[in-house]
Amino acid sequence: MQYFKIESQLGDNLSPAVPRGTNLRRPGGCLECSTIPKDCGPPEVLRVKTPLPGGVVSSTSWGFGVIAAEFLDVLGNEAASCLRLGNLADANGQIIKEFRTFVGVERILLRGNLKSEHWICSSCGACIYVYTPRESPYVTTFEVKSCRPVYEIESMRLLVNETIRERIGDRWAEALTFNEVPILDSPLDGLPVEMGLWPTAEQVEGYQPNLPKWKKT
Ligand SMILES: [Zn+2]
Repeated sequence: MQYFKIESQLGDNLSPAVPRGTNLRRPGGCLECSTIPKDCGPPEVLRVKTPLPGGVVSSTSWGFGVIAAEFLDVLGNEAASCLRLGNLADANGQIIKEFRTFVGVERILLRGNLKSEHWICSSCGACIYVYTPRESPYVTTFEVKSCRPVYEIESMRLLVNETIRERIGDRWAEALTFNEVPILDSPLDGLPVEMGLWPTAEQVEGYQPNLPKWKKT
């Protein structure tokens, strides 16, 4: 079994189309960490200002990603069923057919070594995890035990299996790069192998965060 992380060159250039002063900073997401709540998808319809991202797959500051409808077609139904999808509309409320929004049905953590930073959001209970070293993250056998063709990783990025990787082929070669992510039996970060985006009460008990400098004061 092989898994590849899709890297996209696109940045976040979406802004919500709402009147000035409207509190729509994180539609649907946790106000503290932006994570979309467990078992939830993106908002059904979100009005945005144009221009839209001109590419294939993009993250946003809202906790859900944006994916081109054409790319979704290439991924196929089985893969698309690994994503909870929402819609974007233009400022007039017209649905933008070229793009969908997404949250993974399963969102998994890319993990690192003992220096990785992690903590639990005090508002929504999500485990926020920043892996170190940045160049060689991995997933664990436990995390991919459901063998889905597509997972959401690292918040709004896609992890796809080799079948999907082959299906995408050279299409969008300029916009996308693929990096194979190793699958380890045991994590190297000192945390239990079962640790995920949504730690259970049992896992939270006795959990020691490793806070980044900006969070320590
Ligand atoms: Zn949160």
